[in-house]
Amino acid sequence: MDCLFCKIAAGEIPSTKVYEDDRILVFKDIDPKAPFHVLLIPKEHIDSAAKIDENNSSIVAHIFETAAKIAAENGLDGGFRIVTNVGEDGGQTVKHLHFHMLAGRSLAWPPG
Ligand code: 5GP
Ligand code: ZN
Repeated sequence: MDCLFCKIAAGEIPSTKVYEDDRILVFKDIDPKAPFHVLLIPKEHIDSAAKIDENNSSIVAHIFETAAKIAAENGLDGGFRIVTNVGEDGGQTVKHLHFHMLAGRSLAWPPG
C-alpha cells in the first residue's frame, strides 16, 4: 500500500521521533501549527477514526495514555489539544489514522 505514514512507521521515510513502541509511533509534524505539534499514529494501517471498531479500538486507548505521558514529560502544563481529522470535510490529507497533539500557544475554539 502506498501510504506515507505506513512508510514513516516502517522507517522507510525519516521522521523526528518523540516516542516509539511496538504498536505506535509519535513524531514531529513537518509543518507545525503550534510550538509543540506531534502526530501519534498506530503502526498498523487504519484509514481514519471512521474505521475504529471493537477489533482495533484498544490502540486509541494506548495512544491517549501515551499522549498524557508526553504532555507530562514535555511540561505542557498550559494544556494541549488532541484532534483527528476524518475525510474531506474533516480536512484529512493523509489517509492513515493520526492524532495531532498541539500545545504551546492558546488555541482557537471552535476550529475554522
Ligand atoms: P491531516 O491534514 O491529514 O489531518 O494531517 C496530516 C499532517 O501530516 C499535516 O499536519 C502535515 O503537516 C503532516 N505531514 C505530511 N507529510 C508529512 C511528512 O512527510 N512528515 C511529517 N513529519 N509530517 C507530515
Ligand atoms: Zn498507512
